[in-house]
Parts: sequence; structure tokens; C-alpha cells
Amino acid sequence: GSELMRGKRGLIMGLANDKSIAWGIAKACADAGADLAFSYQGEALKKRVDPLAAQVGSSIVLPCDVATDESIDALFDELKEHWDRLDFLVHAIGFSDKSELRGRYVDTSRGNFAMSMDISVYSFTAVMQRAEKMMTEGGSAVTLTYYGAEQVMPHYNVMGVAKAALEASVRYMAEDLGKDGIRVNAISAGPIKTLAASGIGDFRYILKWNELNSPLRRNVTIEDVGGSALYLLSDLGSAVTGEVHHVDAGYHVVGMKAVDAPDI
Ligand code: NAD
Repeated sequence: GSELMRGKRGLIMGLANDKSIAWGIAKACADAGADLAFSYQGEALKKRVDPLAAQVGSSIVLPCDVATDESIDALFDELKEHWDRLDFLVHAIGFSDKSELRGRYVDTSRGNFAMSMDISVYSFTAVMQRAEKMMTEGGSAVTLTYYGAEQVMPHYNVMGVAKAALEASVRYMAEDLGKDGIRVNAISAGPIKTLAASGIGDFRYILKWNELNSPLRRNVTIEDVGGSALYLLSDLGSAVTGEVHHVDAGYHVVGMKAVDAPDI
């Protein structure tokens, strides 16, 4: 690995297993020399996260359910017992009731709308309120979003609305925290087969569509996302903030794909 992240300390939130986007990012940061801490959602995930954390030389593995301020406060109180300073943070968390990630957006219930916005949008803001206080030498935070924030994608529904709000919150936080040298960005990742993605209807079809229609004619991996996150989280991205950076094999630039066999 390189020395790019030597001496930098980062908190990774949203690791569920070795398919998680958070894992691709954690590996890239650890390879570059970063010291990592992890938070996991519930006791059931601890047994998966512990060995992964150990693989990247981390023994700081703390519980946090972002649905409550108490749990987020407890996470940062515990983190402060290990570290007096935080340099970067990864927010790779999203949630919606699976039954509303199919069918029509217009049928979204009030309850699931509120919960999806709370877990997938507000949690990043709530976390940054605490992280800001530990980023005493500046810092960098990255969250994960999807193209369904910008354009209508099949079955993405309320998550598309939540991701649009998340992207707006990135811009507002970039302005608020910029004067303290804290950068806030989002990565808009192409579809990747993870636990969260398995809740989305027709996900295999979405993967195939992206593979066939993106300029690079392939899907993206968690390692692809890890490399781009490393750029944003390290000093390589030192003047980049408020950005939504697409790591999607170029899919978002295509209005209409050229016909590879032009005899329609
Ligand atoms: P994943 O299932 O591996 O990760 C989702 C994580 O969110 C899990 O670790 C889960 O524990 C956590 N989480 C959910 N509710 C939580 C809560 N209340 N408190 C704490 N943690 C909670 O799936 P992933 O695809 O790696 O998802 C990471 C992020 O990437 C999400 O924001 C997702 O929307 C986004 N994203 C995913 C894709 C994709 O195709 N997989 C594409 C673009 C963006």
C-alpha cells in the first residue's frame, strides 16, 4: 500500500459484510495506511464486522443504530476514549421498507417515508454534528448515493427521494463545515449486489441494463468505489467539497446509447 493515509484516523459506518460498499472503502483506506474504527447496527452484525475489522488491523468496533441520537452520542463518547481526533468519516447507511422498493412511488406510506428520510438522510447530518467536534485539524466525510436521486429508476421509489435530499444535505454541510476545513462529498455508485440492494425489485435486470448501457460496458465493484473514496477522503481531494461524484462506469452521461449494430 501507499502512505497516502498514514497517520489519518477514520470512522467507517455501515459495514454489514464483505459485499458492503463500506468494505471496499475500508480496504482502500487501510491499504493506504489509515487507522480505522467501525460502527455496526446491531448485535447480529457484530460477529461479521469483528473479523473484517481485524483483517484491516482495527480493534475499534462499536455499536450504533443511527435511528436515535442517544445511540449516536454513545458511539462518539466511546470513540473519544480511543481517539482524541478524527480525520475522516464514511457514511454508508440507507434503509427503506423493502415492500415499498417495488411497485409505485406514489403509494409510499407516511410512516415509511419518514423512516427512510430519517435513516438514509438525517443520520448523516446527525453524525456530522458529532464528528465535526472531533475533526479539529479539518476532515473529510463521504456518503453514498445513487442515480435514482436525479432520474427515475425502476423500483427505487422513496429511496430516490431520500437520496435527492441526502445530496442536498451534502451541499449544505459543505458550506457549514468548510470554514473549519471539513469537506463533505457524496459518491453516486452504480448498482452493486449488496445486502441493501437485494431489497430492490428486479435488481438483476438493473445490473444487466447498466452493464450493457454504460460507456465502460461493465458494472462497478466495491474496489472501484474504494479507490474514488480514497481520493475524496485523502489530501488528493483537498479542494473538493459539496460534490456528488459518480462512480458508475459513466452511466449518468448517457442520454441515448449509440446502436452498436446500426441497422435498426
Ligand atoms: P449494505 O447492506 O452492505 O450496507 C447498508 C448498511 O446500512 C448496513 O451495514 C446496515 O447495517 C446499515 N444500516 C441500515 N439501517 C441502519 C441503522 N438504523 N443504523 C445503523 N446502520 C444502519 O449495502 P450497501 O449497498 O453497501 O449500502 C451502503 C450505502 O450505499 C447505502 O446508503 C446505499 O443506499 C448506497 N448505495 C448502494 C448502491 C448499491 O447498488 N448497492 C448504489 C448506490 C448507493
